[in-house]
Amino acid sequence: MNPRTILKNTFGYDEFRPLQEDIIESLLKKTDSLVIMPTGGGKSLCFQIPALIFEGLTIVISPLISLMKDQVQQLTELGISAVFLNSSLSQEDYRINEELIRNNKVKLLYVAPETLSMEKTLILLSSVKVDCITVDEAHCISEWGHDFRPEYRQIAEISLKFKDAVIAAFTATATPQVQDDIIKSLSLKNPKKFVGSFNRTNLYLQVILKSDPLSQTINFLEKYPNQSGIIYCFSRKQVDELYEELHYRKYSVRPYHAGLSDAQRKKHQEEFIKDDVQIIVATIAFGMGINKPNVRFVIHYDLPKNIESYYQEIGRAGRDGLRAHCLLLLGYGDISKINYFIDQKADKERRIAKMHLDALIRYAESYNCRRVPLLNYFGEKYEREKCEMCDNCEKEEATLVDVTIEAQKFLSCLKRTGEIFGAMHIVDVLRGSKSQKVINKNHHLLSTYGIGKDISKEQWLSLARQFLQRAIIQKDYEFGSLKITDLGAEVLKGNFKVKGILEAKEFNYKVQKESSLDYDKKLFSLLRTKRKELADKTGVPPYVIFPDKTLIEMAAYFPKTENLLRGIHGVGEQKLKKYGQIFLALIIEYCQTNNITEKLTSRSKKRKKSSIKNARFIEIGEAYKKSKSFDELLNRSNVKRNTLINHLTRYVSEGNKINTDILINLIQINEDKQKYIFTVFDKLGANYLKPVFDELEETVPYDDLRVLKICYINKQL
Ligand code: ADP
Ligand code: MG
Ligand code: ZN
Repeated sequence: MNPRTILKNTFGYDEFRPLQEDIIESLLKKTDSLVIMPTGGGKSLCFQIPALIFEGLTIVISPLISLMKDQVQQLTELGISAVFLNSSLSQEDYRINEELIRNNKVKLLYVAPETLSMEKTLILLSSVKVDCITVDEAHCISEWGHDFRPEYRQIAEISLKFKDAVIAAFTATATPQVQDDIIKSLSLKNPKKFVGSFNRTNLYLQVILKSDPLSQTINFLEKYPNQSGIIYCFSRKQVDELYEELHYRKYSVRPYHAGLSDAQRKKHQEEFIKDDVQIIVATIAFGMGINKPNVRFVIHYDLPKNIESYYQEIGRAGRDGLRAHCLLLLGYGDISKINYFIDQKADKERRIAKMHLDALIRYAESYNCRRVPLLNYFGEKYEREKCEMCDNCEKEEATLVDVTIEAQKFLSCLKRTGEIFGAMHIVDVLRGSKSQKVINKNHHLLSTYGIGKDISKEQWLSLARQFLQRAIIQKDYEFGSLKITDLGAEVLKGNFKVKGILEAKEFNYKVQKESSLDYDKKLFSLLRTKRKELADKTGVPPYVIFPDKTLIEMAAYFPKTENLLRGIHGVGEQKLKKYGQIFLALIIEYCQTNNITEKLTSRSKKRKKSSIKNARFIEIGEAYKKSKSFDELLNRSNVKRNTLINHLTRYVSEGNKINTDILINLIQINEDKQKYIFTVFDKLGANYLKPVFDELEETVPYDDLRVLKICYINKQL
């Protein structure tokens, strides 16, 4: 079976996500690999599919029992034989699992490193063929990472015992230091490194000024009834308070922080995962070990420490690829709070922490696309100007007006007060406040006192942020004071005009519909109830039965036969067998009572769309026909070589004959050998290259085999 067939038949997915196919291929070639992909990028599939193709066992090392359990449940539902060995099993179950492994009945074995290094585990595993050792959450091996686990250090030594096994390390941590550490500590041999983009396109990013956080949060929650979400707070106390407020207002909510007992934390997490509870209010203690794919929003009630934690935390939203909303409440009071904690640290650590906080504030205060600073932080360049999935990209540019006068008022007030105050105080002076601080400093006697009364405090604060953004002032993050830059001096002199947004920003939360599909909400809700019922019966989270996207597609396309159901996202053969009839019955009955038939056409609309997308292979095929050399074709079509080859394969497979001379020029294999390779294709088929590669005793590289495969198919047309 080839990876694509497994993707469709077993997992029920139509397309690979970026890099997945290449990674799978690399593992099948037994090339040690390091994969860096963001949370939700789809790392698991990259080792699960090879595991099904390998003859022997794939060992998956994972740091947390909850993660192992989650994956084993999901795989079992897909009809894949996977087990774990860890302390949570009863003696009896442990023995049963060992027996299954011994009898080669298992494709994937999940273990913690400490279990793996146990004598009895090693003896057990020495009796079976191990083809792949996967190290999930591989950053745990590095002391530089955020979840260092000393036990991970032993993996390299253990893996030496499995000479035929390829080693694959997976992590979402981007820092080069951690990456190097992983390669070294695992003794990866000439590893191939795959780095995915950190751009999570389905996350809508929004930052608003924190004014009344509780009502801001409640307003937001109103927009997402019955949806799962996480609210992150700075302290346990804040978690408890917010939990009380929400609980009192009848929200389905639980608290989570290190001050609760293990049992309580576990219970709350479980309730959240099983959709028994919608909202978790938590400190950063919450998250690791949560694989829940349908988290629709993450609110940062307080400012996170740095961009890295922020990214990690928002990363828990929208793993299923559907849209999710990430809201950050930017409170200037929070900055002083964090600064206070930072100040307790030792010198060097303190400087680094300040730098990190500074980067986060710049992100939050940015007026440009939020993906630019966010991705920049991870060393990635965001090429597009707009992402259309952040608050700043949605803002209308037309609202920019000339604010030079306001800037001059602000700057001269700054100057007169000695450039040692923060925005709050300057605004107080401008607005003629009678506050103690203003009077004590004699600032009510200044000529700039009260010259900015025509503009509200919020507007002034917003302007101050824009001035920072435009670099006419700069901020000393240690003391919070504002200073005039050289550019600012030019503004004061009237040599430079400033544009900005004057109207006070409204807090509007544009609701993020999770899917662009128009679906029947009532049917969706029925399907969801059914899913929950089935999940509770089996004792798994609902998403293990079907992800939300599956139910959304069902409620949009109304499939009424098994065959149509097969076309729905996430419906593989096993699930079709197990749940197909149950869901079909629901859909059919619903359609009958509501007289729905004609909507079936929307299903064919989808088909049409995908055929337009797929038409790319036709374009490439046609371009090939016009090209005189492969390089010309590469230039013409502007895609990578591998992608090109894939398109051409498809083009030929669909029955379009081409002249293969250009392709043959790409490889250096004499005609006799080519003929021989074709006989191997005859024998083993050309669908899947690994057996061919093996049969040829690894003498012909995959790149060449791919080219020959096209020629082979073409020859038969
Ligand atoms: P990661 O480990 O990188 O955080 P997961 O492996 O948990 O991500 O995958 C996240 C979600 O994406 C899962 O629900 C998974 O089933 C889904 N997924 C992975 N690959 C695909 C794909 N090719 N098409 C559709 N969904 C996918
Ligand atoms: Mg994972
Ligand atoms: Zn944007």
